[in-house]
Amino acid sequence: ESLSPAALQSILDDIAAAMAQRSDRGQPASYIPELGRVSPQHFGIALCLPGGQTLLAGEATTRFSIQSISKVFTLAIALGRLGDDLWQRVGREPSGAAFNSIVSLEHDQGIPRNPFINAGAIAVTDAILEGLQPRDVLAELLRFLRVAAGDEDIHIDKTVAASERAHAHRNTALAEFMAAHGNLRNPAALTIGTYCHQCAVEMTCVQLARAGRFLAGLPAAPRLVSPARVRRINALMLTCGHYDASGDFAYRVGLPGKSGVGGGILAIAPGRASIAVWSPGLDAQGNSRLGAEAMEHLARATGWSVFG
Ligand code: GLN
Repeated sequence: ESLSPAALQSILDDIAAAMAQRSDRGQPASYIPELGRVSPQHFGIALCLPGGQTLLAGEATTRFSIQSISKVFTLAIALGRLGDDLWQRVGREPSGAAFNSIVSLEHDQGIPRNPFINAGAIAVTDAILEGLQPRDVLAELLRFLRVAAGDEDIHIDKTVAASERAHAHRNTALAEFMAAHGNLRNPAALTIGTYCHQCAVEMTCVQLARAGRFLAGLPAAPRLVSPARVRRINALMLTCGHYDASGDFAYRVGLPGKSGVGGGILAIAPGRASIAVWSPGLDAQGNSRLGAEAMEHLARATGWSVFG
């Protein structure tokens, strides 16, 4: 039943070849000007297997901005630090609204629906920032990512961080709205500055797939989070990881996944693989168009859907 690494490699090669032909790629995010400069032509994919192999195709060693994929790692850090107390500040339900929506915050008294929409991720960052300086939180995130990936060469792109920060009116509004409801512990500017830097971490598909190994429970992965917590992070990725397209991603791919507006997607096939894909063109929900298609192709070819 399990596919050989050679069989998987030829699936990845097929996917990369098919994606190279495509012209309907969508456009990169332009509300963060630095991301808008990235060509939609890029495509890369990498996956890590239980035997320790990393397979790749396309531009899998080119760095891109991980953006909201960082929210998976800050969530893991926050749960480690605060445990279930975190759930007093952020919910666990899909929002059915855009990633940057403010609507449900008003309905829910400043408690964001889940940790992966912007409001929820800002609350998570605010929680781990309490009592610390932004540089401490960012150092902890980089340490976590470097240990998870087994790779020291992971950094923040300061230009992207500054670009987002200069246009962070909407995220600042989300933070201030939460502050009005007593759900922010630090000055909004400090939390948003930290959040913009966490989103500006740049990684390659290979680094990201390796960093996701602990979520797939691969034997070679460092034990960063307990198995019980890993299951719960995967549940949130499946239900909330693609914003108002989470249902569609679950339907088409059937794997826990987290997207970012840099065009990356991390997907987890529990016990089988950690997979990262990158294509900067986005769909209307702000998720990588070809990235989701590549994951769909891979899930179909491997039978890795968690639904059998
Ligand atoms: N940094 C981005 C923002 O807050 C992250 C959004 C995303 O990747 N979906 O707008």
